[in-house]
Amino acid sequence: MSLSVSLTHRLGDFTLEAAFDAPKGLTVLYGPSGSGKTTLINAVAGLLRPDRATIRVAGEVLCDTARGIWLPPHRRRIGYIFQDARLFPHLSVKHNLRYGRWFAPKSHPPARMDDIVDMLGIGHLLDRRPASLSGGERQRVAIGRALLAAPRMILADEPLAALDEARKQEILPYFERLRDELSIPILYVSHAPSEVARLATTVVALENGKVLSVGAAAQVLGDPRVTPMGARAAGAVIETRIAGHDSDGLTELALGDLRLWVPRVSGDLGAPLRVHVEAQDVMIATRRPEGISALNILPVKIRDIRIGQGPGALVQLSAGESVLLARVTRRSINTLGLTAGQDVYAVLKAVSVAKENIAGKNAP
Ligand code: ADP
Ligand code: MG
Repeated sequence: MSLSVSLTHRLGDFTLEAAFDAPKGLTVLYGPSGSGKTTLINAVAGLLRPDRATIRVAGEVLCDTARGIWLPPHRRRIGYIFQDARLFPHLSVKHNLRYGRWFAPKSHPPARMDDIVDMLGIGHLLDRRPASLSGGERQRVAIGRALLAAPRMILADEPLAALDEARKQEILPYFERLRDELSIPILYVSHAPSEVARLATTVVALENGKVLSVGAAAQVLGDPRVTPMGARAAGAVIETRIAGHDSDGLTELALGDLRLWVPRVSGDLGAPLRVHVEAQDVMIATRRPEGISALNILPVKIRDIRIGQGPGALVQLSAGESVLLARVTRRSINTLGLTAGQDVYAVLKAVSVAKENIAGKNAP
């Protein structure tokens, strides 16, 4: 395990009681505001001294209260990326980056500055001051500064939350590259389902200080019983491959033997793509619909139905090896007589899968 956390910490009326192990890659702490994400990440950073904890990163013990081990923050070699970039306003981009490198220990020389500058596409910004940068550019510099300290691990607390949608789309690919090209663990806080779907190797779903579920992104996001952000935000993740590009602007994706059409995405035939399919966008039909504009009509099997408190229900569907979620009304469950084990059709409009819902495949 590259990251292993077990901790209990009380803050007034709030108790964080969390334990999880995560393999290498990017682990998302996913939960609503107040669920304890920042408290947990601060405990890993050493900014907070937990009541009880064992925290291990890549085999190294950062904290073990039972054995009296507690490394101070500056000895943890952690790169912390905040929501606001927190660059030094009076220093140029180059000097902000050098400041990061200053923290790299002699035993762990950082990656070459040029490589990190190239990876983040910030070479043309080196002589500028932070005030003259866009929010997205500032955040890229902050990522570079964190990387230049030769960290053992990266912590990112809602690093995109302060950016508009276009800027988020600009930064997301860089986190994908960090995940796929660096061998260090990344612990990333988010309450945005699309971000989680796109980036997470492992998801730790948090609610009210407790871990609801831990597992691979497809498993946790496809579970109708784990909805820390509410059923409205539910959506599954499917791993697909590009099977063709059509001349009318659509791309054909293979999901096992099934086919899915989405608006054109770039990529070579056979390239793996991860797609986030929001539960709201999926309809269920008991017979194959005809004369309908929706392009995607997939034969699926109902695995599970979770009836909510209100009028809604979440239906978990097996689509070949993958899992989809559909959000429908309880009334539809009753009038159609839907039950687990039943063969039905999932109906999905191609246009409901936006570019933001599609990402290069996660590293294994
Ligand atoms: P999140 O990052 O998921 O929004 P936080 O970890 O910031 O959640 O906070 C979790 C809970 O702990 C919240 O209910 C918050 O009010 C409470 N909390 C955070 N810091 C303190 C503190 N210093 N004293 C008392 N309660 C705190
Ligand atoms: Mg927070």
